[in-house]
Amino acid sequence: MNALAATNRNFRQASRILGLDAKIEKSLLIPFREIKVECTIPKDDGTLVSYIGFRVQHDNARGPMKGGIRYHPEVDPDEVNALAQLMTWKTAVADIPYGGAKGGIGCTPKDLSTSELERLTRVFTQKIHDLIGVNMDVPAPDMGTNAQTMAWMLDEYSKFHGYSPAVVTGKPIDLGGSLGREAATGRGVVYATEALLAEHGKSINGLTFAIQGFGNVGSWASRLLHELGGKVVAVSDITGAVKNSNGIDIPALIQHKEKTGKLADFSGAEAMDSNDLLTHDCDVLIPCALGGVLNRENAGDVRAKFIIEAANHPTDPEADEILFKKGVTILPDIYANSGGVTVSYFEWVQNMCQSHNCNLRMGAFTLGVNRVARATLLRGWEA
Ligand code: GLU
Repeated sequence: MNALAATNRNFRQASRILGLDAKIEKSLLIPFREIKVECTIPKDDGTLVSYIGFRVQHDNARGPMKGGIRYHPEVDPDEVNALAQLMTWKTAVADIPYGGAKGGIGCTPKDLSTSELERLTRVFTQKIHDLIGVNMDVPAPDMGTNAQTMAWMLDEYSKFHGYSPAVVTGKPIDLGGSLGREAATGRGVVYATEALLAEHGKSINGLTFAIQGFGNVGSWASRLLHELGGKVVAVSDITGAVKNSNGIDIPALIQHKEKTGKLADFSGAEAMDSNDLLTHDCDVLIPCALGGVLNRENAGDVRAKFIIEAANHPTDPEADEILFKKGVTILPDIYANSGGVTVSYFEWVQNMCQSHNCNLRMGAFTLGVNRVARATLLRGWEA
């Protein structure tokens, strides 16, 4: 099922459970604004190439819209719409004062040089600079983008609006980024896993894990699970998959991937078919890559008892039903992977203290006083 259809279906089901009024339901479903821009850049050899960039701003009822920028060949309007809507529910579940947005460019980042990526990011930022902003819409990294991408966005945005570090999060530390932001999504996934397992009288130590995706989220989650005594028995990424029923030495696998750029040929594990990762024998399955990977074709063959959705919408509604009937517990994306955007919030608040040009005490006072003032006003003090 298409990502947007699946996300809308989950939303409508929640709306029915809550008995939401039809008018509110409609207004929550329709995005606040959808932006589509042409991004043409000269390649390093001088030829021109055009890409399409998107930013969907879904909802701002709880604060500035927030969400990542994805560089991936599968980026399309429906996908970005679904991801933007998921950000609205995710920031609400994490209870941080943001709405939801998502953006992306349909491209294959590994086929672009660093300077081509920089030009593409700058052109995209030029096209959307007047529609994002510290108190309006705050981008962050997502699949195919990273702290460097945010540094270019910040620099380009600042040419139009003056230095504005809080316009993006997930920046390099030297530009006002937050310690721990890079690991935050993976770390949040592990905290969420710990909490879920504790509910079931279990702990990470000694359980077996299969991880799909070994980028930022997958590698951090694997590393932290390994530190806590979890046995990561299978890992896959776009370059291939490896398995070891005694548990893979994750720090060694990370080193191997840093050195060779791939998982294959790692001496501490056997090669396996990536297509078998999701149905591999394990206690806990953690998809950390693309959406829709669990569907009616493979859900019946899943052997894990728990699925932690580190990716956004990895389980489509048909798979949801099949897995529920099988007794598999699924921890949903909008809770399980909310650690990244939560640390983005800390970064943004720290930058606000800088942008108001005040010291940390006034940063803390303005934050605290503002919250109490808002609560006072909401409770009604004039009558
Ligand atoms: N891209 C991340 C997500 O999907 C982080 C978004 C953010 O920090 O704004 O949650």
